[in-house]
Amino acid sequence: MSTNGPVTACQICGHSPLAQVLFLGYLPPVNTMRPIGAPHDLESWFPAELLQCPVCHLVQLGFAADPAVLFPPDYPYTSGTTRILRENFAELYREAQPMLKLTAQDLVVDIGSNDGTLLKNFLTGGHRVLGIEPSLTSNLALADGVETWMTFFGKDSAVRISAEKGKARLVTAANVFAHIPDINGIVEAIGSILTDDGVFISESHYLLDLVKTVQYDTIYHEHLRYYSLHSLKYLLELHGFHIFHVKRIPTHGGSVRVYASRSPKYRVRASVERLLALEVKAGLNGDSWAPTFRDRVIASKLKLYALLKKLKTKGQHIYAISAPSRASTLVNYVGLDDGIIDCVLEISGSKKIGKYMPGRGIPVLEESKLYADQPESVLLLAWHIADELMINLKKRGYSGDFIVPLPVPRIVKNDAVAVV
Ligand code: SAM
Repeated sequence: MSTNGPVTACQICGHSPLAQVLFLGYLPPVNTMRPIGAPHDLESWFPAELLQCPVCHLVQLGFAADPAVLFPPDYPYTSGTTRILRENFAELYREAQPMLKLTAQDLVVDIGSNDGTLLKNFLTGGHRVLGIEPSLTSNLALADGVETWMTFFGKDSAVRISAEKGKARLVTAANVFAHIPDINGIVEAIGSILTDDGVFISESHYLLDLVKTVQYDTIYHEHLRYYSLHSLKYLLELHGFHIFHVKRIPTHGGSVRVYASRSPKYRVRASVERLLALEVKAGLNGDSWAPTFRDRVIASKLKLYALLKKLKTKGQHIYAISAPSRASTLVNYVGLDDGIIDCVLEISGSKKIGKYMPGRGIPVLEESKLYADQPESVLLLAWHIADELMINLKKRGYSGDFIVPLPVPRIVKNDAVAVV
């Protein structure tokens, strides 16, 4: 697969043609944000078409954008600012350590290690760690004592890791295994740095959750693939790995943690069969889910637009809360601009403050503006954590109503949010 251009054959099995599930139109890269006040200039927008392979059933994006454009040195995303992610990576360590019985000599390599949030747990546990991260967030990890190489993971870095650090007992890839082009080459590269009894743990946004809760907003160019357990199994087995344990985890609105190894030493747990059976029930081992999903996405867009129109017609001010990557797809697909949403508010310290939303003139500002201005309604762009967000915003003094855009757009009155 070219790392910059249309995807014309399945990224895993090479089958062509692929079937269309949905076309969201053209979208900008979700983490490219212009500074407020900078003149509007030319921007790259890429087609966002969701496709499915009729053979291995991998759901995938129809266009691969250049990774250097998607993950530039000033990539603003930091794992450590999200509580759910911090807790999840701490829990990953608690789950994996007894299973693998890692020793002080064992090396743990994290691909897409970002600010080192995942690896810090292994470092504190007394193991050797190495992060691989192409953006400048690697400096945050280094400042916390997490050895990190500022580079893209691939065949070349795998050779260098083996030569300089030896083989890894564990390789982790959280929210990056769906992001890297040439997936077959990447799985081989991962295999090449593992010890004979080494384990690979991936965490990816999970197709079953995406489909069930209409999470079209997670469709963007960083996500080249939308994994089911079936498609992951197909991919990993092509390279001699077997999946021996899986766990659904709450990150990003529903993800799946998958343990795989080439060693027979790990017995396959019942969790694997259970999840495969659930996917069969939902039709994910075929394409029966696709037309309904498409209809639900379109209905959701129309309903959100109608709801916002009603509030604007009454003269309301609507602010939005938080600018996760997924917010970019939502505002661009639904067609929200600064005439509809005055601003997007982020917590203090976010690297997104002082920028415009990708592809839009909506400014991202600091959250204190919410309590000073008290707009009538706020749109929750991090809707997948809406319950927690509504309580926190109300606790901090916000007295207006909440708009939860997905899966079905709805208004939650401030009075209905119980603060304990
Ligand atoms: N693993 C972290 C987490 O789960 O919070 C960060 C996930 S973030 C969505 C994806 C990260 O992968 C970014 O920090 C990005 O710079 C990095 N990345 C992208 N392509 C990569 C590659 N080929 N090798 C290593 N890291 C990569």
